[in-house]
Amino acid sequence: MLSHPDRTSRTPVLLGIPFDANSSYLRGAADAPPLIRQALHCDSSNSSTESGIELDSGIVLDAGDVKLPPDGELAAIEQAVTDLLDQGQSPVCLGGDHSITYPILRAFARRFADLTIVHFDAHPDLYEVFDGNRYSHACPFARIMEQGLAKRLIQIGIRTMNAHQRQQAARFGVEVVQMRELPASEKLKFAGPIYISFDIDVLDPAFAPGISHREPGGMSVREAVAHLHAITGDIVGADIVEYNPKPDISQLTALVCAKILKEILGKMIAG
Ligand code: MN
Ligand code: MN
Repeated sequence: MLSHPDRTSRTPVLLGIPFDANSSYLRGAADAPPLIRQALHCDSSNSSTESGIELDSGIVLDAGDVKLPPDGELAAIEQAVTDLLDQGQSPVCLGGDHSITYPILRAFARRFADLTIVHFDAHPDLYEVFDGNRYSHACPFARIMEQGLAKRLIQIGIRTMNAHQRQQAARFGVEVVQMRELPASEKLKFAGPIYISFDIDVLDPAFAPGISHREPGGMSVREAVAHLHAITGDIVGADIVEYNPKPDISQLTALVCAKILKEILGKMIAG
């Protein structure tokens, strides 16, 4: 059935993670999952991806939102993702702030020993600790790399690198592709399982105003889609994080999240 080990068709399942308690600046990302779903199913557009995959007729499953206990949220996220992986499904998580990627990757790392993470973001999120919080949304990739949860981490679109995070990137062997170095499609050819973590603030705030940390000088939606399309290899899971509906304008960013989501789902289904 599998024509090539790096071209495996997946059945994605959506999982909402309404959690933003590890945000360092603005809350609001917890409200995102239902709005991304609504935009995905909105009649303003059809359900075809640009790559020609039809997303209707139950081809994408939906596991609903994670029930988060008042404490132990990260453990609950890890367990929910583990449960889906145990059922042979390929979770695509809708955040939530970026701190959710650490518990998600704890679940994925038990299933996939040699993961490559492709991380779209304005920020490296490599702080050892931020405002006294080791699980801040500014820290997930430090936690992931210090625990060896991925074989490779490629960051793309970065435009806020500082001295501490440059040290952290060197310490963990992170491959950083800064925004000013784009296009970088040729750096996205991989073998082995791939996890895509897409922080919506990688986009220029002109395209995606509904985010907590507006960082000018980012990607257009077109540049992001082009880099997603350029990825080769077996995409086993993904997340879309940091959409904050509160500062959004006319739900523009919800539609952008749905667009990015569609193209990721299309790639997973196509294999
Ligand atoms: Mn981030
Ligand atoms: Mn960011």
